[in-house]
Amino acid sequence: MKVFDKLYIDGQWVASHGTGTIDADHAATEEAITRIPEGNEADVDAAVAAARKAFDGWADTPASVRAEALRRISAELALRADDIAMAIATEVGMPLKLARRVQTDGPVANWAAYAKVTESFEFEKRVGSSLVIREPIGVVGCITPWNFPLNQITLKVAPAIGAGCTVVLKPSEIAPSVAFILAEAIHAAGLPAGVFNLVTGYGLVVGEALAKHPEVDMISFTGSTRAGRRVGEVAAQTIKRVALELGGKSASVVLDDADLMAAVKGTIGNCFLNSGQACIAQTRMLVPAARFEEAKAMARQVAEAFTVGDPLVEGSKLGPLVSAMQRDRVVGLIDRAVAEGAELVTGGSEAPFAKGWFVKPTVFATTDSKSTIAQEEVFGPVLTILPYADEAEAIRIANDTPYGLGGGVWGEEEHAIKVARRIRTGQIDINGGPFNPRAPFGGYKQSGNGRESGVYGFEEFLEYKSLQLKPLSRPAPPEAAAVPG
Ligand code: NAD
Repeated sequence: MKVFDKLYIDGQWVASHGTGTIDADHAATEEAITRIPEGNEADVDAAVAAARKAFDGWADTPASVRAEALRRISAELALRADDIAMAIATEVGMPLKLARRVQTDGPVANWAAYAKVTESFEFEKRVGSSLVIREPIGVVGCITPWNFPLNQITLKVAPAIGAGCTVVLKPSEIAPSVAFILAEAIHAAGLPAGVFNLVTGYGLVVGEALAKHPEVDMISFTGSTRAGRRVGEVAAQTIKRVALELGGKSASVVLDDADLMAAVKGTIGNCFLNSGQACIAQTRMLVPAARFEEAKAMARQVAEAFTVGDPLVEGSKLGPLVSAMQRDRVVGLIDRAVAEGAELVTGGSEAPFAKGWFVKPTVFATTDSKSTIAQEEVFGPVLTILPYADEAEAIRIANDTPYGLGGGVWGEEEHAIKVARRIRTGQIDINGGPFNPRAPFGGYKQSGNGRESGVYGFEEFLEYKSLQLKPLSRPAPPEAAAVPG
């Protein structure tokens, strides 16, 4: 078992004020493999005090120096890439190769990309008679989930540090190793003490202590809508800025001029990424009613080709879910869908293996867009196919959940863009357009209120200050005295 027995506060590894520990498990073997400190409010106080003390100096550091620090952190992370990918493959369950490409190399590159954003950002601008200045907001509390653990941390901590903020990170206790590896990388990169601090523990204790702390100026939260709502409530007492990145129930809308097989393959690939444990997973596929049967047959064929298996075994395409709790929740939703009358096209709730929290790739078809499986975030490898009569109905169904995070539209490009404009959601892939880390990422409606990625994510950590300027009106120089004579 890997034991991380210290928190990272004020540039040092220190013991927690608490005595408890939390274990994280291997998703495929169910064994406890990682142990971390169960931090408490006193740890949060110490970390926030360190971040506060470091703030003025860091905020004053030239942007070019902060950019260099981000580059060094990226380089230190790259040295640890094998450990990061292995931690994610075992704790989260994503197949190792994918964990390396998507969840390790991507975030490592993003640290360096934020160096570029930091050094090229225009921090000051003249607007008429004003000088408008962008300043770092202050001490930022970052609370992150387990599903893309380093990616979610990176999207907050890298821009916050680049912007000149100081940070206290509370990562997920379910996949915590990468946060410790990051702290080691940051230490090796020589970031000044207090700029980055790490406190691990439970959300209800450490997360809420950060959210309510009067010396924390902003909370950047990624996680479930349920926890985000609570964070917003707690943070409201101190009027701090709260950026929320929450859940989703995204729709892939297949238009009548789409290549149906390409759409089915693309949607299922998206839906099953990380065993469906992705906030932007396109979990509803909307198809023209006339092609419902054809779409079901194709989806069965595509889903059944996903090899379920140990994330460390070459060839596994679909790893286990992250935890017993997550598996039970997904299996419960599959059983409920069957009970509510959805047609099980393939898969189901029966476990494919005796060990590990695996769920079979599952596809449902239903005409009931109000049913639980068509409305709730599942967070498992489960796709629901829904038929629509006409485009107006497709758009209505796509918009008919409390969420608005991701989505896809398939069809002739101009047509697809026209439909995409009418869907209330933060990002839409047209014909499987690839993820762009420079484009804004975030949700409409109950999927959140913040934006991450690229320069958009950077600006979240800045305040505006405007200086109204007025030319000094000096008294006119006295007339030269007339010289008599
Ligand atoms: P979660 O809400 O259970 O936990 C997220 C983080 O919040 C964890 O660090 C947890 O300890 C902490 N937390 C929990 N309760 C808290 C509270 N009362 N106060 C403060 N902190 C608290 O979510 P999860 O299970 O880790 O992640 C899955 C969820 O995250 C899904 O709903 C998914 O859609 C969402 N998510 C959203 C995005 C996005 O960018 N929109 C990205 C990834 C995941």
